[in-house]
Amino acid sequence: MNLEMGETSISLDGCGRANCFVSHAHSDHVAALRAGGKSILASDETLALAGYSDKVSPLKLDGVSIKLLNSGHILGSRQLRAELDGESFVYTGDFKLHDSLTTKGAEVEKCDVLLIESTYGSPEMVFPERDFVYSCMAKWVRSNLERGAIVMLGGYSIGKAQELVKLANQYLGISPVVESNIEKACSVYEKFGVKLDRIPVRTDEAEEVLKHEFLSIVTPSSASRSFCGKLEGIYNRKVVCAVASGWALRYAYSADRAFPLSDHADFNQLIEYVERSSPRKIYCTHGETVRLASELRRRGYDAKTISKASQMTLDEFSEGD
Ligand SMILES: [Zn+2]
Repeated sequence: MNLEMGETSISLDGCGRANCFVSHAHSDHVAALRAGGKSILASDETLALAGYSDKVSPLKLDGVSIKLLNSGHILGSRQLRAELDGESFVYTGDFKLHDSLTTKGAEVEKCDVLLIESTYGSPEMVFPERDFVYSCMAKWVRSNLERGAIVMLGGYSIGKAQELVKLANQYLGISPVVESNIEKACSVYEKFGVKLDRIPVRTDEAEEVLKHEFLSIVTPSSASRSFCGKLEGIYNRKVVCAVASGWALRYAYSADRAFPLSDHADFNQLIEYVERSSPRKIYCTHGETVRLASELRRRGYDAKTISKASQMTLDEFSEGD
């Protein structure tokens, strides 16, 4: 999507303009960094996690007031707030309102036009309290370790995996073994002040730990029963795995357990965000857009869906071609 603002325009998590806003470091949002040659608006944390620190030219816009707000999704994730002639626009990017073990919840400011992510835009997608999920996960991990099993927790390598490391540190007093790509993101988190006690694979310390029962934080594809079966053959020990994802509410995973721990807002948080920002026009993007727009209209809001290829105009608030 592109936002047209007076004389200038900016691509929102895309690369269709010379000026690009990159909300966070997940791979489906960093096209502008990969494309190269763009003027980039992103947090230092995002550039570091994506591996582009010192490699981009920062964006400068004349006449438009731009502000980045924390979006509470992963380290460095930001919302874009733009204001022109007294009219304001906010693009949330991926967000959640509640604090996690590694990130503070999203900031919410009033705006005239809101472009909101809709990943969990259906009313049945409501997560349990985060602390309760943490406790359930810790209890499950502890009981399996006490039985002498190897435990693997799966989560995305940037964001979720670091939260799982923190969970192991705080709730279990354990330094988990982490895969190399997870270690890479952990070191960036630490650089920005989030302390994470972990043991990278292929170190002497990891080799020692792997001789006994242990906890490992892995990417979701490794947290599967078929992979556990292979490891059981190698380690001659019971191996159990669990996945941490909001989609655990809807889908079955090929894992021993799936916990509904998400870095996105659930349906209630999406509605709460809209109520607190009180926009007069809402565009729903990315995810269950049709359902969310319809739920918002039922609540009296002027809401509709918008496609990725669309353009929005800040001074008119109308969808362009
Ligand atoms: Zn994301």
